[in-house]
Amino acid sequence: MTAKPNRDALLATAHTHMPMGVADSYRYWGDENTVFVKSMKGCTITDEDGQTFVDFRLAYGPIILGYRDERIDNAVISSIQNIGTMTGFSTRMDSEVIELVKSMCPQIEKMRFANSGTEAVLGAIRTARGYTGKNKVVVVEGGFHGLYDEMMWKPDVDSWDPESGTIPEIKSFGGGIPEASREHLETVSLNDADALDEVFARVGDDIAAIVIEPIMGNCGSIASTQEYMQKLRDICDQHGSLLIIDEVKTGFRVAKGGAQELYGIYADLTTYAKAMGNGYPVAAFGGKAAIMDKISFGKDGVTHGGTYTANLIALSAAKATLTTLRDTDALDSINATGKKIQGILAKVFDKFGVEHRFAGPDSMFGIHLGTIVPQNYRDWKQTNSDLYTEFAHNLIKQGVMLEPDSREPWFICEAHKNMDFDWLEQVANDAMQQALQS
Ligand code: PMP
Repeated sequence: MTAKPNRDALLATAHTHMPMGVADSYRYWGDENTVFVKSMKGCTITDEDGQTFVDFRLAYGPIILGYRDERIDNAVISSIQNIGTMTGFSTRMDSEVIELVKSMCPQIEKMRFANSGTEAVLGAIRTARGYTGKNKVVVVEGGFHGLYDEMMWKPDVDSWDPESGTIPEIKSFGGGIPEASREHLETVSLNDADALDEVFARVGDDIAAIVIEPIMGNCGSIASTQEYMQKLRDICDQHGSLLIIDEVKTGFRVAKGGAQELYGIYADLTTYAKAMGNGYPVAAFGGKAAIMDKISFGKDGVTHGGTYTANLIALSAAKATLTTLRDTDALDSINATGKKIQGILAKVFDKFGVEHRFAGPDSMFGIHLGTIVPQNYRDWKQTNSDLYTEFAHNLIKQGVMLEPDSREPWFICEAHKNMDFDWLEQVANDAMQQALQS
């Protein structure tokens, strides 16, 4: 274990100020492993004790070009200096950003902004309920849609035995989540058309929306099949329910038009965040004009707003990021780098005879050790996630940052194209050797 005296001191102080000593519970990796970042640039972060990491975690996805990308930072600085940050009134940038989104995402006719993915999902679901007059929402096991009560239920796959013939129990993410928030939630397993038929046969008249990450950015990038996406579209159309595609992780990352471009299947409402702002906090939801226009002060109009919504820091970042993604070959380069890195890792795994499967697109790929290509969250349970976690911890020690949980994909940004790939092969080699010995 490398000594981290500065981190230890900072964490000790932080423990006196914050529960768990962190600002977001998922940043607590135990007193021995919690990371304190001092600076960041390109594809690297440097911790408070001077260790630099090549980062494949990228703040859970927002960094698409690279940390401190001057194209974005200069646009934001100029906007702050020449316009300001926010007044709580409209600006011309509202429409300018939406025009950019529309030029890449044909399913967007009207849009509203939000400050986080959580808020964007909440806005989309409220709009869907307001538009359809229905209550229920169907989500997919292993998907994640933010930290508000109704989305804080998940299948307890950790304590579920795949041999048992049962289905995993749905549990809350923890305390403080009222049972009532689950009343209108239905959960299905990905790529299981029968499960969808069953839910719609039972409560189809009252389903406002299906909410899905077509490529599960929170479950090893396990992807919907083309047929399943078509099934989702069809079953929503048949029942007057809306299809909400949550592109918080995939949007402006897996393709200019997000996952929907890859499938050629389009949502009624879409949520965006993360890559939209290269690290600046911006989010949005949008879709068909007739649905979005339900947001109004009219009778039964849907309420939406927020003090910081469409502030100019967020919008100037989004404008510069989206322009760059649309008008340069950044995403092609990111995909090529992602492919190359998978090739390097495959070579290492093969060398040690470690069976592995990659999932998802090259810009955010998942690694599943074992022979199963997971089709859903339950399959993920049968992969060797313990070996992966051991491998990941060994990589982190040597300066490759990633989430040690195999449910989090490897995120690639444009700046990774200049990293030292030979070094990566070497450290991956060492990390796997150590993992297999332990
Ligand atoms: N939807 C998806 C698909 C996400 O991955 C996340 C966050 N990881 C959210 C929603 C919530 O976003 P935020 O953390 O910005 O609230």
